[in-house]
Amino acid sequence: MRSFTTFEIQYAHRFLGFQGEAQYLHGHTGVLTLEVEDTINTGVNMVYPCNEIKKIAWEVIQNFDHALILRDDDPLLPAILSVYEEQGIRGGTTTNKQRGPAFKTELAAAYPESRIVVTRETMTVEGMIRIVYELLKDKLNIAKITFTSGVNGSVEEYIPGAEKERCPLCGIELDENGVCSKCGYRK
Ligand SMILES: [Zn+2]
Ligand SMILES: [Zn+2]
Repeated sequence: MRSFTTFEIQYAHRFLGFQGEAQYLHGHTGVLTLEVEDTINTGVNMVYPCNEIKKIAWEVIQNFDHALILRDDDPLLPAILSVYEEQGIRGGTTTNKQRGPAFKTELAAAYPESRIVVTRETMTVEGMIRIVYELLKDKLNIAKITFTSGVNGSVEEYIPGAEKERCPLCGIELDENGVCSKCGYRK
């Protein structure tokens, strides 16, 4: 069976060199849906607690929220960084609280202190799905990712990994020693 949870992400981007209005900087509300697959866990009667999916995924995904997402060769990138520098906000401010840990993969790098994500390719709905899968595939048994941006959307399905042994008391994955990091249960 599958559990799923959704996230809302406000972001700005543009399609560099694209012939159309999308080559201008603009913003969207994106909705990301993550589906996680496993067996129903006896005891808690859940595939995976949705609030735990949310916690694990949001740690990474919050870096895309209220962020500017630009391709690594976009000349807007150095221009914007220099304005942020002049304003003294490039390295962060006390009001920039919603920050996940920085990340860097083949496809994207997050600079949470300045709310910028730099991508290797143009950030489309398809691109977002690839980036998110790359970031979360080792943390969750992902079966499907859907991303919509306004009325546009894209979806990809995956073959989930092997079943994970989970805590019978709270449903989260047990660590390599059979211990639950949340409630302390031991196998
Ligand atoms: Zn757009
Ligand atoms: Zn537990």
